[in-house]
Amino acid sequence: MASVRVRFAPSPTGNLHLGTLRTALFSWLYARHHQGVFVLRIEDTDLQRSESHYETSIFEGLSWLGLDIEEGPDLGGAYAPYRQSERAALGLYQAAADQLLEKKLAYYCFCTTEELAADRALAESEGRPYVYSRKALELSEADIAAKLATGEPYVIRFKMPAHETVTFQDVIRGDISFELGLISDFVLLKSDGTPSYNFACAVDDAAMEITHVIRGEDHISNTPKQLVLYEALGAKVPLFAHLPMILGPDKSKLSKRHGATSVTEYREAGYLSDALFNYMALLGWSSPDAREIMTREEIMALFTLERVSKSGAVFDVVKLKWMNGQYIRKLDKSALWDAVKPFISEAALEALSARYSPDVCKDIVFSVRDNLDVLTDIEQYVQVYIDSLASYKEKLGSIQFSESDRQVLALFLEHLRALPGALSPADVDRILELVLEQSGFGKGKVFKPIRLACTGYPSGPHLPELLSILGKELLIERC
Ligand code: GLU
Repeated sequence: MASVRVRFAPSPTGNLHLGTLRTALFSWLYARHHQGVFVLRIEDTDLQRSESHYETSIFEGLSWLGLDIEEGPDLGGAYAPYRQSERAALGLYQAAADQLLEKKLAYYCFCTTEELAADRALAESEGRPYVYSRKALELSEADIAAKLATGEPYVIRFKMPAHETVTFQDVIRGDISFELGLISDFVLLKSDGTPSYNFACAVDDAAMEITHVIRGEDHISNTPKQLVLYEALGAKVPLFAHLPMILGPDKSKLSKRHGATSVTEYREAGYLSDALFNYMALLGWSSPDAREIMTREEIMALFTLERVSKSGAVFDVVKLKWMNGQYIRKLDKSALWDAVKPFISEAALEALSARYSPDVCKDIVFSVRDNLDVLTDIEQYVQVYIDSLASYKEKLGSIQFSESDRQVLALFLEHLRALPGALSPADVDRILELVLEQSGFGKGKVFKPIRLACTGYPSGPHLPELLSILGKELLIERC
């Protein structure tokens, strides 16, 4: 068995969001750093809220981010099945509950919802924390048998052990202790026979020989329940690491209110998987040398839980955008074309291919790469290459070129005309140099009117690349 077995255990009750993805990423990084095994377990025992399309969104999100798994649903593995609904159907939770009933570490409870609500209300009115009364423990074996025989609904509760506290050492937070007296005898199996989250989770982590449980800090309060279950089941306790929350810019927990939170939304908004991977890795973790842009391999090699911070990590979309731009500029011409193509509208693609060869199309997107922060930006930046004569004229509108502008344009035109054959970016560079020299004007005074007259836009892609792609004929026509 691999010495490190880390699981990612999402519930398919919503689209994969950034917080859950960050848990997956840190778990995956930990497993990879230690040459361990990364297990995906789908926790779908909440039948009301679990939906198979959410499960698909989890698979897609993981695979898009490049978080490969060794064991999981559909893939199988030595501890299959990896869907809790399938494990429930095999009777695994029932068997574990029976084992605890047998050892008198769990018991049947027939209390009605009304009774429990009344007890809870009483505790509240007396200002004390509610803990289940253990009324059901007073039932005799015969009472229980009789109730079971008549089909009275019941749950199976765990009998909290007598010791006062339970302590675990969190890898990120150090020792954390809980007073057991404040924790009710919680439900293991609900009245419909389905297991509670804490029960299914502990039974499965034990059965799957999970060595490290890495999850959000919102699960800290579940950990004491899982610890006492490990003890009762006679299982080895894994190491726990509770990750800091991801916060919005206002320092409250990241939510829809702060904008897009699902992974799909980021993919659709034109973020690259490498960039999101890199950015998310820095949400609560930092590299020892404070480097920010790192490859997957570098992050994998450097990742330790000891460098994960305790305090919440602010999700800063401006920084993510900046990082995405850095990653866009790292792509070579073909990779950039493949990345942006899905983000160019049908109409623009048609206009591009009507006017330019496939190679020039690649040159075009490459010429605007410095302008792109997200891939969706591409549409606006290719326009200059495909504008019709009418929209060019409309853009130019009533712009009046000054006397010095006219001088610049005349010089530019003269050199263009004198050039035999097609126009390369190096030719444009040379012509611009000549115009600068002969006019005696500064760069702004030369480049601006040329860009405006040739394209109708005051700013845009790098001029030599832009003008050489637009071609000599069109420039002569427009100047
Ligand atoms: N199914 C739980 C969730 O999605 C998993 C918690 C855990 O990792 O133990 O929050």
